[in-house]
Amino acid sequence: MVLEVEMSELLRMIENSNNIVFFGGAGVSTESGIPDFRSSKGLYSKSPEYLLSRTYFDSNPKEFYEFYKKNLIYPDVKPSKIHYYLSKLEKESKLKAIITQNIDGLHQMAGSKKVIELHGSVYKNYCMKCGKKYDVEIILCSKDIPRCSKCGGIIKPKVTLYEESLENQKIEEAIKFIEEADLLIVGGTSLVVYPAAGLLEYYRGDKLVLINKDKTPYDRKANLVINQSLEEAFQLK
Ligand code: NAD
Repeated sequence: MVLEVEMSELLRMIENSNNIVFFGGAGVSTESGIPDFRSSKGLYSKSPEYLLSRTYFDSNPKEFYEFYKKNLIYPDVKPSKIHYYLSKLEKESKLKAIITQNIDGLHQMAGSKKVIELHGSVYKNYCMKCGKKYDVEIILCSKDIPRCSKCGGIIKPKVTLYEESLENQKIEEAIKFIEEADLLIVGGTSLVVYPAAGLLEYYRGDKLVLINKDKTPYDRKANLVINQSLEEAFQLK
């Protein structure tokens, strides 16, 4: 019953706003079949985090790619109702931007235009030596370490690994959208990965909504907390 009140309040806030920003994480794509990292069945329940560090990429590229291909690339997944719902809000000129920590490209596949991918995308890859760009097929088709056809350099995904910095331009753009947002909806993220989680500090409004199955360190600061799945919170089930 309490939850129904909160869910109605969320839909009322969405109805009354024309400047919504959505800040999301791995939980946005679990309904599409991509596991998150930190919930009980997430990737880190069976694999250590250092496998996604820059140190590991540089020292063990072959093993890195074995792990990466198996656990981070999902070429056959499709957007879920959540991705399509957010895309619809943008088409209605209610939602101004999606700021995502995800690297799966599903928001764009659902038709969203303004998507800031804080941690990059598995679909963008480049040669570390000459800069030549590659799509994801080169990674998927390489038996071993993917190499540049032009210069033989190692190809690296444009995905932010642990120990790597985020692109300044993306951070600045995300801050601008968050500062100007009327309604900030944060969903499907544990909010423990920095600096991404720290961007919420830039929100100046009084409509910060947190939707997450598990509790987060920001729950206390939110104006509305819904500890439910995004599908339920948006009443898409
Ligand atoms: P996380 O794994 O730390 O947290 C995900 C949170 O989402 C959990 O707290 C979980 O309770 C919640 N959740 C799961 N399914 C949900 C649903 N249907 N509705 C509501 N909540 C749900 O993920 P994070 O905070 O995004 O940080 C992890 C990092 O891992 C990010 O940098 C991201 O790039 C990366 N990652 C990306 C993908 C992807 O691209 N799909 C998947 C896994 C991890």
